[in-house]
Amino acid sequence: MRKLINRLDAICHPFPGVHVLGLVGSLLFVGALVAWPAVGETVNQTGESMPIPALSMVLERTEDLSEPVLPLTTRTERVEEGDSLSRLFSRQDLEAQVLHSLTQAERGQVRISQLKIGQSVEFRYDSDNILSEIAVVHSPFHQTIATRSDGSWTINQQYREAEIYIEHARATIDSSLFLAGERAGLSDNLIMELADIYGHVIDFVHEIRKGDQFVVTFEKRYLDGEFIEYGNILAAEFINSGESFIAVRFEDTKGDVGYYDQNGISLRKAFLRAPLNFRRISSNFSHSRKHPVTGIRRPHRGTDYAAPTGTPVYAAGDGKIVHRGNKGGYGKTIVMKHGSSVTTLYAHLSRYGKFRTGQKVKQRQVIGYVGSTGLSTGPHLHYEFIFNGVHRNPRTILNKLPKAKSLPKSEIARYRRIAGVLIGSLDAQRSHDELAFQSITKP
Ligand SMILES: [Zn+2]
Repeated sequence: MRKLINRLDAICHPFPGVHVLGLVGSLLFVGALVAWPAVGETVNQTGESMPIPALSMVLERTEDLSEPVLPLTTRTERVEEGDSLSRLFSRQDLEAQVLHSLTQAERGQVRISQLKIGQSVEFRYDSDNILSEIAVVHSPFHQTIATRSDGSWTINQQYREAEIYIEHARATIDSSLFLAGERAGLSDNLIMELADIYGHVIDFVHEIRKGDQFVVTFEKRYLDGEFIEYGNILAAEFINSGESFIAVRFEDTKGDVGYYDQNGISLRKAFLRAPLNFRRISSNFSHSRKHPVTGIRRPHRGTDYAAPTGTPVYAAGDGKIVHRGNKGGYGKTIVMKHGSSVTTLYAHLSRYGKFRTGQKVKQRQVIGYVGSTGLSTGPHLHYEFIFNGVHRNPRTILNKLPKAKSLPKSEIARYRRIAGVLIGSLDAQRSHDELAFQSITKP
């Protein structure tokens, strides 16, 4: 909890004083927040959304710096195919006897001789050029380290905690979510994650509009002041055709993580809105319902997604494959059954995924790839959603489907506290940007 407060504390920093006060007033744990350092003010002066470390991380880093630094010389080996620790030893001109005493120190799970291709192994030598440490680097945050003293080795796992900075990004879409996200400085993975969070409520191919906006609050992980990787998306707001969709990350007491709206209702639904990976689908604003072959508008029993051949097609929901094969003008087709009332169909595929007829499939598993088989002039996915035997638009049928999971009473109070701060920070970010914009445009 302490950690969380510190993290939330950090979220409040990048805003002008008035917003910070507004946020603080709405919090139950005011006491934890009044003590923050002056770093926030520096940021307010610059008006930029600079990353601010959570307070706890600042303290930890100070402790790190006070540790004595041993003057070791490091020579790094990269594990290639066919490498073993003994090969690395001979590349380092080390005696086999050293390796022998090292492997004797291995016990249980703490092993240093099991290497993976691509890992780096650091050989650290003292001033007399005697090997005193070997570190297998699993990630920037995890190393297995063997240390020698008095001729014998001890092997330990060393974990380092990232310094977590919290940042905001805001973008207005003019062609696609991905381009807008890239312009806002988000990584591909982060954009994909944002798309996954909203994948059950927004069809990012057909429903996205020029002028749609999003604000996202996310973590960035640093070590010794150096950026290592992006962390979790903590909160987001997506405004689609004027409708606001809030998403707040929440880990319940069982450790399950999900995204919920302002009322604590899960954003995860029984069916995806667009059953394909639309990473490579750039713009569909000019999409018309013309049939791709006959070229005339006519009542259409499904939804067409123009997409490059090979784009992965997802199972829209958990279910079972009841047909996998050619189906007349549909070409290569998959049909899935989801419980007793819903059937989904995916047509014109170029090829199938690994699942066969009769197999159970989970939502978002790849069941096939976009193609142009059957009666089709260009690569696209033809998707049908059939409810009780009638073809329906998945969007309009949504409220007839089983309701999404809400957080139980036992979790909701804690959720509201966290969501209150995070949603407040999204609001503050938006009005902060608007204020900045006004001051630029005013004569
Ligand atoms: Zn179609």
